[in-house]
Amino acid sequence: MKKVIIIGGVAGGASAAARIRRLDEQAEIVMFEKGPHVSFSNCSLPFYLSGVVADSKKLLMMTPQSFEVKHNIDARVNSEVIAINRTDKTVTVKNVVTGEQYAESYDKLVLSPGASPIVPNLPGSDLPHVFTVRNVVDIERLQKAVVEEDAQNIAVIGGGFIGVEVAENLRLAGRSVSLVEFAPQILTPFDDDMVQILHKEMVDHGVELIVGDGLAKITPSTITLNSGKEVAAEIVVLAIGVRPETSLAAEAGLELGETGAIKVNQNYQTNDPDIYAVGDAIEVYHRLMNKQTRLALAGPAQRQARAVADHMFGMTVTNKGVIGSSSIQVFDYAAAATGLNERTAKQIGLPVDAVYIIAPDKVGLMPSSNPLHFKLIYEVPTGRIIGAQAIGKGNADKRIDVIATLITMNGTIEDLKELELSYSPMFSTAKDVVNIAALVATNLMAGRFKQVRVSEVRGLVEEEAYIVDVRDVNEFAQGALKGAVNIPLSELRARMDEIPTNVPVYVHCRSSQRSYNAVMALNNSGYTNVTNISGSFLGISLY
Ligand code: FAD
Repeated sequence: MKKVIIIGGVAGGASAAARIRRLDEQAEIVMFEKGPHVSFSNCSLPFYLSGVVADSKKLLMMTPQSFEVKHNIDARVNSEVIAINRTDKTVTVKNVVTGEQYAESYDKLVLSPGASPIVPNLPGSDLPHVFTVRNVVDIERLQKAVVEEDAQNIAVIGGGFIGVEVAENLRLAGRSVSLVEFAPQILTPFDDDMVQILHKEMVDHGVELIVGDGLAKITPSTITLNSGKEVAAEIVVLAIGVRPETSLAAEAGLELGETGAIKVNQNYQTNDPDIYAVGDAIEVYHRLMNKQTRLALAGPAQRQARAVADHMFGMTVTNKGVIGSSSIQVFDYAAAATGLNERTAKQIGLPVDAVYIIAPDKVGLMPSSNPLHFKLIYEVPTGRIIGAQAIGKGNADKRIDVIATLITMNGTIEDLKELELSYSPMFSTAKDVVNIAALVATNLMAGRFKQVRVSEVRGLVEEEAYIVDVRDVNEFAQGALKGAVNIPLSELRARMDEIPTNVPVYVHCRSSQRSYNAVMALNNSGYTNVTNISGSFLGISLY
């Protein structure tokens, strides 16, 4: 009978324990968790702040008792593993409540200790009104402080997924929230041109968004930023990133990798074959960047945990590495991304191009139809899909999941063009947004038309260029680009001689679909320097 010890009782640890039990009814499984809870929904923690999750007990998916009764797993909470003794294959466990210490032996050991929130060494970062969010205890403490102090001004530091979710949920709870991000944008999986929608959404919902500025100092009622700006804050939430929990592994002589996280092989074994490691504490192979990286997400942690159990019991494991897929709700918008964004792809020297389209997410006649901003990044000239981002009020995640699947299968824009997806007016359009993006990309790569990004429009206005706005007269009257000439698509053929042939011509509409038709009409009428503005007026309004 195998005895397996698991360190960490949440995403990776609990998944490994459950899978091991499904594979071996006889195995002795002991899972140590230093906190008071096992198997809680980390990802749902921020939603307790707004009341979307009404009761913090609902965050707990399993208890030590339910592990025992349902799976015959010995889950011990308040039990910190303080040493791994590889020579005698034992761990030293400390009961954090009583202080008692004891040794427990193992045949196989699984590490899933996660990653802890980074707390910068800055004046005031140890003050009692400064919080981080990692577990149920943290979120209960934060919520209690917000309510008991009736805190009106809260500063959230860090515009990653956790920071944005915490800021949003506190705002939904009626608090004044400032979100401070050191980088020029929040949510770095998104490119600059896409993320502007989310910046605007935060601001429109009353969040004071401060990007390009960092935290310098915390006092009991304010924070001071690097720029010298002072922001009122009775409560400060630090969400500037996480650090893999590696000290236990390192002290036991387990190798760390180039990213500083625990190094594992393709079967998630450390340099000690009896010790596996998964989750936020390890580094993983990024199959698009061809290098080791860290990816603190729940899905990969659970998949790795399952792979560990399978390998432990002699099953073949295929480790394809990660591509990085994520999604988030930002007030009324859903946003999702997969693979590499354009910025990263270019930084690592991949020859990529991108299309940015804005297309209806459902048939326009349907009451819930909304524009979906969609960006597709692909390699030139192979057409291999490298990444995608989707932002809209409807289903952004389903589009991104389609692309994630294609990336995993090494799909190309040709594959995406031909991909047969389900359709009904309430769910999508006959040619879904993702198919349309592939059509545009294949046309672009074949040189059938030229495009310029909406983010480059400001430069165009200053350039000697003729800008044609092919929207209807009433749309044009409501706001237009400086210097643009309104020739609605329906009048284009009759008025084509108004458009000069000796200067570059740029065409735009609301979402770049009518303008694409206009560009093709001009190209096919002898114009040689016509460019479509991708992203178009819906995008322009964000700049
Ligand atoms: P964890 O789930 O953090 O579990 C590690 C556990 O190990 C901890 O409970 C810790 O107390 C315990 N431990 C550490 N050291 C020891 C020790 N020595 N002895 C005993 N116990 C120990 N991911 C997504 O994909 N989507 C999301 O929407 C999302 N939202 C998130 C929101 C929040 C607020 C947070 C905090 C995370 C979110 N994540 C999300 C990330 C996701 O939760 C993690 O990637 C995932 O939980 C990692 O699993 P893990 O097992 O490695 O670590």
